[in-house]
Amino acid sequence: MSASSDYQLLRSHLAFLRMTAAAEVLPGLLEEASRSSQKLSHSAFLERLLSVEVAATEERRRASLTRFAALPSPFTIADFDFSAQPRLDERLVRELATLRFVEDATNVLLIGPPGVGKTMIAVALGHAAVAAGMRVHYTTAADLVARCHRAALEGRWATTMRFYAGPRVLIVDEVGYLPLPAEGAAALFQVVSQRYLKGSVVLTTNLGIASWGKVFGDDQMVAAALLDRLLHRSVVVNIEGESYRMRSHRARAEAARKAVSA
Ligand code: ADP
Ligand code: MG
Repeated sequence: MSASSDYQLLRSHLAFLRMTAAAEVLPGLLEEASRSSQKLSHSAFLERLLSVEVAATEERRRASLTRFAALPSPFTIADFDFSAQPRLDERLVRELATLRFVEDATNVLLIGPPGVGKTMIAVALGHAAVAAGMRVHYTTAADLVARCHRAALEGRWATTMRFYAGPRVLIVDEVGYLPLPAEGAAALFQVVSQRYLKGSVVLTTNLGIASWGKVFGDDQMVAAALLDRLLHRSVVVNIEGESYRMRSHRARAEAARKAVSA
């Protein structure tokens, strides 16, 4: 068989296997191999070709995990200014960033008033998990409830529950900002229940645990059952400090005042 028909066959094998990245670099790599003074061994050549495809596949996988995660900002733990939050347990947050908590489906509850960095830490944990190749999904509690509501109307309840059961890490942001209708509380309860001991929930809330009844329209039963599942295996991170935005706003105002009075 001629070299050119070998080449055509090789191209069609790569096309059949959908190895488009390898197919793209093949001509150049062949050319380089034939010109190269120290001859490339067969295995070295194959390695070079396949490594291009492996890199492309990994890149696609990472891009797909990133899309699916839907994280609302790019922040990582490295961006978090711990000095601004002196009462926050930095060691605990850094321990969480190792993702050991994901291994036994431990939940993480980030509790504190608005602006203290709850979302930022939750999102940073999400990015760390994506970087580790895990499926992650971010949602606000309001979006989760709205999506479940639509699903119930359109007969897609089971599919939607499977969707929320799937990711290794599910981030539910802003629980408690809006009171949930009974149906919404039931949806959140089912999502948390079916993930119980199977996959981590990272949840942020402005409500102390004692006032969780309020989120659920004072349905203490649902609140207690939900907390029971959430807290059974969990890490609670309390952030009590002041709002980061207010703090930097105050610092700027202070600096401006000094500049004016100087
Ligand atoms: P929360 O979810 O608690 O309301 P966010 O995480 O949304 O607060 O933080 C509010 C804003 O302040 C965001 O832009 C966030 O990036 C920033 N921020 C909060 N805390 C810190 C911090 N310790 N270091 C750096 N940026 C912070
Ligand atoms: Mg937030």
